[in-house]
Amino acid sequence: MQRVAVLGSTGSVGCNTLDVIARHPDRFEVVALTAATRVEKLLEQCLRFRPQVAVMAGSGHAARLERKLRARGLTTQVMHGERALEQVASDAGVDTVMAAIVGAAGLSSTLAAARAGKRLLLANKEALVVGGELFLAAVRDGGATLLPIDSEHSAIFQALPQDRATWPERVDKIILTASGGPFLRHSPAELAQVTPEQACAHPTWVMGPKISVDSATMMNKALEVVEAHYLFGLAPASIEVVLHPQSVVHSMVQYSDKSVLAQLGTPDMRVPIAYGLAWPGRMASGAAALDFGALRDLSFEPMDSDENRARFPALALAWEALAAPPGTCAVLNAANEVAVAAFLARRIRFDQIHAVIHGTLAQVAPGRLQDLPALLALDTESRATATSLLAHLRQ
Ligand code: NAD
Ligand code: MG
Repeated sequence: MQRVAVLGSTGSVGCNTLDVIARHPDRFEVVALTAATRVEKLLEQCLRFRPQVAVMAGSGHAARLERKLRARGLTTQVMHGERALEQVASDAGVDTVMAAIVGAAGLSSTLAAARAGKRLLLANKEALVVGGELFLAAVRDGGATLLPIDSEHSAIFQALPQDRATWPERVDKIILTASGGPFLRHSPAELAQVTPEQACAHPTWVMGPKISVDSATMMNKALEVVEAHYLFGLAPASIEVVLHPQSVVHSMVQYSDKSVLAQLGTPDMRVPIAYGLAWPGRMASGAAALDFGALRDLSFEPMDSDENRARFPALALAWEALAAPPGTCAVLNAANEVAVAAFLARRIRFDQIHAVIHGTLAQVAPGRLQDLPALLALDTESRATATSLLAHLRQ
């Protein structure tokens, strides 16, 4: 029996995780669930999965959840705040932590799970992008097992040999696929007009709002390049991105003999989630099988055409940030989180997201990053700079 804590259980990845777990009651026990503000959703999940602990971001939401739980006769312990998340993530009664909080808000709990040596299923890519070497050191020192949940990284992990020591000698490069998001054929003039609703309507994946906007700007792929660099220990020059609008090939590994191994499947997050939960084995995920008879077309296009570079300026920032002083990725992430939130709140236009990121990167000096407090201070400074840049932008 694996005892699982799902951090961010009310989100898109969180709900998919519980859907997979519910298919295997003999293998998994849900011991903790956490959410930011959705009391009713977390209540419903607690009634179904009966965890020992539930955590909400604030005390008000926690008090409401607790009242509702008690009214239904549940004794689930209710806690709130970041320390409670860290406590749950490192608890001795937890074997596996699904890190599915969105953004740098999930950094400290994800790091706590790493330090405590958990089996760590990483959906929260921002935690690794921001944490970088510090994150990897926590995994190493804590003896954690880090398993990728992002579909591209799960694909690469599945296509790589089990023996990590052989990767540098055998692997030429990895090729991340990108669907291109909802605005793949939009002109710059059209991009200036798009709404949050349009940005969140991804053509192939159903996801939370922040990652949906990131997919539309291609920042998601930039974050994934950084994520791949840290997860697989590959030089940035060995990571390539190719457009693949159907999202069937989830990513590929090219070996030194030029043989390419790809992982395919329907675009359903339950596949990488089930792989992370069952690794090194396999188990049912609930996803539909690929129907090769109905697959008319698997197409690929270069990402690095002049047109795509102009349409998606965010992508190149991944390689630029990895070549810059450590901490630059944290600045990039913070600026993006502020800009995306402002776009979702209709305070800036879609095409102004990049201006905020660009401006923040120009103004904030990354400095030395010896520990988590230094990293959090850099995150705070970057957010303040990005927020002040917002004020100068007009709709
Ligand atoms: P989501 O917005 O649907 O859910 C986010 C979850 O985090 C919710 O449960 C929310 O309550 C919680 N949360 C948000 N802010 C919080 C805070 N300040 N403190 C505590 N909890 C907080 O997001 P999602 O789409 O499920 O994405 C989660 C993570 O997984 C992201 O890092 C994303 O990049 C990554 N990811 C998602 C998908 C996908 O298909 N949705 C695919 C690959 C990677
Ligand atoms: Mg992905």
